[in-house]
Amino acid sequence: MTEKLSNEYEKRFQDLEENLKEIRFRMEEAVLRSGRRPEEVELLAATKTVPVEVINHGIELGLKHIGENKVQELMDKFDSYKKTDVQFIGHLQTNKVKYLIGRVSMIQSVDNEKLAAEISRLSQKAGSSMDILIEVNIGREKNKSGVLPEALLELVEKIAILPGIHIRGLMAIPPFDVSKEETRSFFSKMAQYFVDIKSKRIDNVTMDYLSMGMSGDYEDAILCGANLVRVGTALFGPRNYTK
Ligand SMILES: *Cc1c(COP(=O)(O)O)cnc(C)c1O
Repeated sequence: MTEKLSNEYEKRFQDLEENLKEIRFRMEEAVLRSGRRPEEVELLAATKTVPVEVINHGIELGLKHIGENKVQELMDKFDSYKKTDVQFIGHLQTNKVKYLIGRVSMIQSVDNEKLAAEISRLSQKAGSSMDILIEVNIGREKNKSGVLPEALLELVEKIAILPGIHIRGLMAIPPFDVSKEETRSFFSKMAQYFVDIKSKRIDNVTMDYLSMGMSGDYEDAILCGANLVRVGTALFGPRNYTK
């Protein structure tokens, strides 16, 4: 490694350490305010574009879950991560499922039956079962992944019967260009769906994770009931897509 590069990493390591402290502090405050215990809410580091050296430093600092959102990038990095829990959080095409089996512990972005069926088929073939979250297009945005709220329950019921899959909860990315109040109302709706589906006690569905909240709104998400937040920029700094 050149000296310049190693200095750059030193700086990023220090920033990461400080950012992580701050995020943990703010998460804990929000969790306590929401009437839960700190260990009931988990932090997943969204690591797209982040070099493996920096991610591994984060893992040394105690990051327990990382999430990638592109299959190719995950494949490129996978063998270099320190041993940790890797999840998939991005848009997933059916023909790329095969690359995730045996690598990730959970796919957070399942929003249609065909994709679920392929995950189930390949997991079964590998003698395993895949944990998934159902992604909800809570803001009803065009061109955005996720099942529409009114189709959520039916999709859950259809996917639940697949043998190689276990539904563990819900995930959402609310619209970016709305007010804090609107974002909170989307989070609250998600929490309502989460509780409703949980109360139905559907076979093979355990509503363990409500994954919502990113760098700008993870405290609000926690206050509304999230127990898994996905944070990128606030941890690692702005993303550099050109490298
Ligand atoms: C990038 C990403 C995040 C994190 O976004 P930040 O605003 O950088 O915290 C969370 N969830 C998904 C699905 C992402 O792709």
